[in-house]
Amino acid sequence: SKLARPGLLEEDLEIENSLRPQSLKDFVGQQKVKDNLAVFIEAARQRGEALDHVLLYGPPGLGKTTLAMIVSRELKVDIKTTSGPVLERAGDLAGLLTNLKEKDVLFIDEIHRVNNVVEEYLYSAMEDFNITILIDKGPSARSVQLNLSPFTLIGATTRAGLLTSPMRARFGVVLRLDYYSPEDLFLIIKRSAKILNVEIDDDGAMEIARRSRGTPRIANRLLRRTRDFAQVIADNKITLQVAQMALNRLEVDELGLDEMDKRILHTIIEKYNGGPVGLNTIAVAVGEESDTIEELYEPFLIQQGFLDRTPRGRVVTHLAYEHLKIKKDKRNQQ
Ligand code: ATP
Repeated sequence: SKLARPGLLEEDLEIENSLRPQSLKDFVGQQKVKDNLAVFIEAARQRGEALDHVLLYGPPGLGKTTLAMIVSRELKVDIKTTSGPVLERAGDLAGLLTNLKEKDVLFIDEIHRVNNVVEEYLYSAMEDFNITILIDKGPSARSVQLNLSPFTLIGATTRAGLLTSPMRARFGVVLRLDYYSPEDLFLIIKRSAKILNVEIDDDGAMEIARRSRGTPRIANRLLRRTRDFAQVIADNKITLQVAQMALNRLEVDELGLDEMDKRILHTIIEKYNGGPVGLNTIAVAVGEESDTIEELYEPFLIQQGFLDRTPRGRVVTHLAYEHLKIKKDKRNQQ
């Protein structure tokens, strides 16, 4: 999602596209998701039908867009992509839908951000493959029902719970993407290095893998930045030493926490005595959008056991104190 990619440049997007695996076989990890998708794709193909609507959810940068593109390629159909915030009016949606050919895929990123009006139209489009639109204004206004070719909607969101329940109910296939293991990220980094023509040894690749927050997008970004260091000060080859030096200079620590992760934890500890403290308060204190904190930073901090979400707010755990080497008792006495 746009919001979840602070500082992503046009150039980054281009490179990101060049690194996208093109088939399920090349897509590393997420074995359960791949196995299930392969069955559903094959079944739809055998029946000659459009694939059921698919909802992909999970933290940003884990490959939802990539998977949607792979699905359309495996189905041998075209894909149109858009995102929730872009679909402002019913007409925007109608334009996309009426241009789909039979069995094509429509990919809607950040589908939880589709507004109510557009969402209502999506319901009938998904369920009955038609939409009713209003033509003209005033006395000559009339509604016209447009029949659509059967198509597959692939929706992506960071958390399935962000969707309304009628929306969620219209997806026949719901798949959750999880953070990747360092071993999977190692394979992704090796593959990307080959495409980018970067020399990297196994120890160097593993070091980047371990510090990539379980996220392929971050692994690819850290690989590119590490390459810059290798090129300028280390003979063009990424070794363990080069990776460590580069990642330290990029302020990515041994567990992959970056500067903003650490700022969030430090802020809760130093300003709010470890919490509980509300999300919006944290957002203001660290100078970042609360959506970005909630969707991008928090899930990883929670998964690593550094942060807890409680009804009264966010609380830093003792693991975070240990990792940041801050004595808890001293703080509590203040
Ligand atoms: P967002 O929802 O924030 O747009 P996303 O989940 O759609 O994120 P992608 O854009 O699909 O993420 O993937 C980000 C980058 O990571 C891409 O460059 C893609 O090539 C790479 N990538 C993602 N998953 C994999 C994978 N399983 N194997 C190899 N590369 C991957």
